[in-house]
Amino acid sequence: MQLDLKLTGCRALTMDPARPAAHTIGIWQGRIAGLDEQVEGLPAAETVDLGGAVVLPGFIDAHTHLAWNGRRTIDVTGLATVSGVLDRLAGAPGTGWIEASGYDPRIMDRPLTATDLDGISGGRPVYVADLSGHACVVNSVVLRQLPGITSDGWLTENEQLAARTLRLPYSLDEIVAELRTSAGQVLAEGVTTCAEAGIGAGLIASSPLEAAAYQRARLPIRVQLMVSAYVLHDVAADPADGIPRAIDLGLHTGFGDDMLSLGAMKLWTDGGMIARTAALTEPYAGTDNSGQLAESEEFMRAAILDGHRAGWQLAIHAIGDRAIDFTLDAVAEAQRQRPRADARHRIEHCGLVRPDQLGRIAELGMIPVVQPTFLHAYGDDYSEIMGPRRAPWMYRGRSFLDHGITVAGSSDRPVADGAPLRAIEFMVRRRSSGGRAVGPDEAVTVEEAIRAYTLGGAYACRKEDVLGSLTPGKLADLVVLGEDPRTSDAIADIPVLATMVGGNLVPQRSG
Ligand SMILES: [Zn+2]
Repeated sequence: MQLDLKLTGCRALTMDPARPAAHTIGIWQGRIAGLDEQVEGLPAAETVDLGGAVVLPGFIDAHTHLAWNGRRTIDVTGLATVSGVLDRLAGAPGTGWIEASGYDPRIMDRPLTATDLDGISGGRPVYVADLSGHACVVNSVVLRQLPGITSDGWLTENEQLAARTLRLPYSLDEIVAELRTSAGQVLAEGVTTCAEAGIGAGLIASSPLEAAAYQRARLPIRVQLMVSAYVLHDVAADPADGIPRAIDLGLHTGFGDDMLSLGAMKLWTDGGMIARTAALTEPYAGTDNSGQLAESEEFMRAAILDGHRAGWQLAIHAIGDRAIDFTLDAVAEAQRQRPRADARHRIEHCGLVRPDQLGRIAELGMIPVVQPTFLHAYGDDYSEIMGPRRAPWMYRGRSFLDHGITVAGSSDRPVADGAPLRAIEFMVRRRSSGGRAVGPDEAVTVEEAIRAYTLGGAYACRKEDVLGSLTPGKLADLVVLGEDPRTSDAIADIPVLATMVGGNLVPQRSG
């Protein structure tokens, strides 16, 4: 047997407890053929000496938005004055919609309004998305097309969705370009697999043909597509199947191949903390606002029951503790009605978890898919709006692990920085970008944080048989780093030297 490639001089942290370290990795036909003495005696078509570089399994971003992230909109991130935002938007090229993103109402001198935007629109529709994707500001041209909505321009959740829908669809060529931009960006940060969090309909959908764009794009990373629960519809299946609603052809989680597959069914049960729409059991500190559920409980319960019945893994967006209560109740009900072993339903974000909810998450075998970089970027603000009693409950780490819960790491890019090494650093240190300690008791070890971005992500995507560790037989996906995160005092700054997807070693720019 001749290997395709032999990597020597590695300091590999395999994440496989059966063989945690390795210095030589043999690759054949896109898979890991063996480690160390298993392959040292074998010839190889090519041998690359990594010169003592650190090698980890490729990072898995278990919840991201590649198309949205790659969208070419006018960036108003960090602008804190209405005049600053208007200056940036004025004279936007093109003729159709003027689209901007990164608006942050929390830092503005005063709220941006439709009237402000009318001044620079030249009669074109204007859509300024906030950082979280849960709110926007639009101009009067857009508002006029939304009869029944009374607003000065600021729209959240379903009203925002109505405005967004006016802009749809994007063309396949536009989406393909967005995906390719994002794929290059994530690879440079060591990410080799992404789960796209909700295509087909809902808040961040681009086109009813979205899946075709992923197929056409032939990206250099592996992608799993979560499908929006809004596309569930009645099907006339044999009653013996017990599946009243499904998507066309009965497709569900697991369909596809190692490069592109269907993941979970995505459902939104509340909003977000940036827009103050995450549903809480007690109000945001100093207000009487407790956020809101995304839809009627009846609608959301039916989606969970029917998605579960149709064989889907569920990925349920729930940030506030009230949304998490609802999610746990509905999933427990689904399991009572139709017990499914290893259904492995996920809670996307799982942002504010009361102590009494930890045991229930464990009992139901649910997987929190967390975004540690939210707290790096927004931890100061979130700590204020949760208040001192609840702040330590946000985006937990240690408590989940102590309850035997598998944690998956993710970015929710472009809502926050997508680099896994920054997230890993946060999980270990629990320090916001402003230097504030955020839930320091939830700190985990470096290995545990890496696990969330490798094996944890693979488990959340039901791909742990082929991804997540450097184990013979698994797919040859890895990242080569300039320094060992276990001994680094600046994990986020460690250079990514190269990535490998399916045995294809690609040097990265940051190296
Ligand atoms: Zn998301």
